[in-house]
Amino acid sequence: MPEKERVGIPRARDAKNNLFEREAVDESPQPFVKPLLCGGCTAPVVAVPGSTRRSGAGSVSVIPYYRLKSRDEHDHDEGCRYHFDERVGDIATEYRQEIERDADTYLLILRDPQSLAGPEDDEGEDNDGREVRTDVETAGGAALHPTIQAARAIARLLRHFRNDPAAQARFKASYQGVRIAWEDFFFDAEHDAPSLAARLLDTSQYPIAVLGRATLVQPFKNGDGRSVHLQTPPGAKGPDGRWVNAVLRASQPRFLGYEADDVILGYGNWQLYPESGGARVDARLWCDVGSATIKFE
Ligand SMILES: [Zn+2]
Repeated sequence: MPEKERVGIPRARDAKNNLFEREAVDESPQPFVKPLLCGGCTAPVVAVPGSTRRSGAGSVSVIPYYRLKSRDEHDHDEGCRYHFDERVGDIATEYRQEIERDADTYLLILRDPQSLAGPEDDEGEDNDGREVRTDVETAGGAALHPTIQAARAIARLLRHFRNDPAAQARFKASYQGVRIAWEDFFFDAEHDAPSLAARLLDTSQYPIAVLGRATLVQPFKNGDGRSVHLQTPPGAKGPDGRWVNAVLRASQPRFLGYEADDVILGYGNWQLYPESGGARVDARLWCDVGSATIKFE
């Protein structure tokens, strides 16, 4: 049986006990002293250079990585942070209500953002507009919903594996029975602003997750409410030629209790505003529950 493409080990330890990232494999000369061990345990590994592989119509570039020398002789030690299958298994177990396994693919089941409300979200303001509770909603989303927690866990794992395409390919989102590629569900505002805009211009919509670093936290001009701008690359344009910003907005400031430089994940029905016209467009998430966002780092 052909083995599913292995997820590369992103880091190795050399004979002098120094750690090397995957990029070191392609350096000339290679900076490490062989033999190499897994960066997370004592399993021997070998370095695999980056390459370009022909595939169907085009070519696919494969990033350099480390792989086990012999899984039969010495697999990862138990609990190794770079044992991909084990670490995925941990997440799937922790979020078993949210993540379904289908052979080698893990599906994050997307719930409707309306169902995100947690117990704390029901407690609003009293009649004077004074907040009833001020001690609970720290850093947004005390009422953490499992969907966004599971999305965060997967995104952290992928980041841990340096966003290896082979790792990303193991995850999909699923909304009302339709499977969605991970890159069409999860967007990093700092890199993916153009594809985020393209996604939101599409006629078929579903909840998505957007990750970003807060650059600006400000109150609404007319008083109540707060907006948080996420970092996007300067000059990033969507397919309609407009510059794209990514912005979280909430009428209750406590739902966006963040500070500049916080890294935030926002899950829900992101939309473009305005829908058309102008030189700029916001990819916006309206946060009417505290659990629409979560701190990522
Ligand atoms: Zn290992």
